[in-house]
Amino acid sequence: NRQILLVEKPTGKLGPEHFRLVSGAIPELKDGEALVRTRLISLDAANRAWMHGATYRAAVEANTVMAGGGIAEVVTSKDPALKPGDLVFGDTGWQDYAAVPAKHLAKVPKLEPMTHLLSVFGIAGLTAYFGLLHVGKPKEGETVVVSAAAGSVGSIVGQIAKLKGCRVVGIAGGKDKCDWLTSELGFDAAVDYKDGATYKALRAAAPKGIDVYFDNVGGDILEACLAQMNNRGRIACCGAISQYDGVPSAHGPRGVPGLIVVKRLVMQGFIVMDYMDQRDAALAELQGWVASGKLKVQEDVIDGIENTPQALIGLLAGENRGKRMVKV
Ligand code: NDP
Repeated sequence: NRQILLVEKPTGKLGPEHFRLVSGAIPELKDGEALVRTRLISLDAANRAWMHGATYRAAVEANTVMAGGGIAEVVTSKDPALKPGDLVFGDTGWQDYAAVPAKHLAKVPKLEPMTHLLSVFGIAGLTAYFGLLHVGKPKEGETVVVSAAAGSVGSIVGQIAKLKGCRVVGIAGGKDKCDWLTSELGFDAAVDYKDGATYKALRAAAPKGIDVYFDNVGGDILEACLAQMNNRGRIACCGAISQYDGVPSAHGPRGVPGLIVVKRLVMQGFIVMDYMDQRDAALAELQGWVASGKLKVQEDVIDGIENTPQALIGLLAGENRGKRMVKV
C-alpha cells in the first residue's frame, strides 16, 4: 500500500521535503467500513489550507497519510450500503488503499470519463454552480468577475455566468491563461494579475463596474475588486488561495467595512457541502450544459501517485488549467 505522508507541516512555502512516500500495510476492516482502492486523487488548493489548522474539517497533522478527496473503488465492505465494485467519492487520503467508514463515502455513478466525477460533476462543478447562482445571484446583463479564473472552479464559474447572459471577466496569472479564457471559454475579457496594474486593467475590462465578484483568492485582488463594486453588488467568498501557501500578506484588503457599507454590498462565504440536498438538480443542469457543448470541461490529469506532492506544489504555483488530479 503506497502512502504519501505529510512528514512536517510547512511554515513557509510547501515543498517536496514536506512529504515522504512509504509502503504501508493494507488496513484491516472494522464493522461499518469499506476497503477502497484509490483511482483518482483530487488536488485542491484546500489541501494546503488544511495544514494551517482546523477549518470546516480537522487540520492535517504531521506524520500521517496526507488527507485528500478522491474517487475509489470498493474492494470489500463491512457495511450493507456498499458492495465490491461500487465507485465512491470520499477522503481516501494519498494512498492506494484506505479503510473508510461507509457513511463518509458517497456512491457515484460509473460514467465516462471517470475524471468528470472530480471536475464538472464533482466538488469543483458544484462549488462553481452553488457559489455563483445561490450566493452571487447574477442577473442578465450584469458584470461578473471571477479570480483563479483558469482553475477548476473559476473556469466553470465564468462559463455559467456567460450562460446566464452576463459580461464575464476572468482574473488569471499569465497571458496564455488569459488568452485561453477569452478565445476558448468565451469570457468577454481577462486580466493578467501577474502583469502589475491589476486595478487599472480591471477598470478597463469592467467599465460599468462589478456586480458580482466570485472570490477564489482574497488579498490584493479582493481589494482591487472591492473598490470597483457597484452598489448592491455581491461578493461570493469561495476561498483565499493567495493566503494559503507561505506567510500571508501583512494587511487584509483595505475598504472593509467602509466600502461594504456605502455600496450596500453583500459579502458571503459558503461551503459547497451545505448545498448537498440540492445536488441532484444541480448535476442534472450541469450534465445538460456539458452534453450540449455549452460548458467546456478542462482537466489536467497527472499520472502516478508518486507525483502527487509535486502536483499540489505546482497547483499552488498556478501550473494547472482546469481541474488537476492524479491517476493512481
Ligand atoms: P484551482 O484549480 O483554481 O487552482 C488554483 C489556482 O489559483 C492556480 O491555478 C493559480 O492560477 C491560482 N493562484 C495561486 N496562487 C494565487 C495567488 N497568490 N493569487 C491569485 N491566484 C493564485 O484550485 P481549486 O479549484 O482547488 O481552488 C479554487 C478555489 O476554490 C480555492 O480558493 C479553494 O479554496 C476554493 N474552494 C472552495 C470550496 C468551498 O466550498 N467554498 C470548495 C472547493 C474549492 P494562476 O495562474 O491564475 O495564479
